[in-house]
Amino acid sequence: MSLEPTSYPGVDPVKSGALGRCPRCGRGRIFAGFLRLEKACDRCDLDLAPLDSADGPAFFVMTIVGFVVVGFALYTEVVYSPSVLVHIVLWVPLTFILALPLMRVAKGLMVGLQYKNKAAEGRLASHDEND
Ligand SMILES: [Zn+2]
Repeated sequence: MSLEPTSYPGVDPVKSGALGRCPRCGRGRIFAGFLRLEKACDRCDLDLAPLDSADGPAFFVMTIVGFVVVGFALYTEVVYSPSVLVHIVLWVPLTFILALPLMRVAKGLMVGLQYKNKAAEGRLASHDEND
């Protein structure tokens, strides 16, 4: 099913990204698996291949989750001084519990923002375009 481009409502990239929905129509799913993107939206046929966010979401999730987990680990070490085994049992599972859901949300958000801002790979402008 394909709709005319003028019939699409304005889709909030944050809302559509968090829900894993298409950034153009807001209804089709963008994920074929946990983090793998569909080739195209099943509702509006938007080609999702150019919107692949590569490792951008992983960087943001690593930074955010790392800040939280290291902060808790440092606080726990300073206040309680537990053994290394306690740290491993606490912080390794917490890292996965926080990072896995955030990866999907971050990837959906980056796909939505790339679509909204018309992000594309950098290209050198030709001399004809500058004149
Ligand atoms: Zn769509």
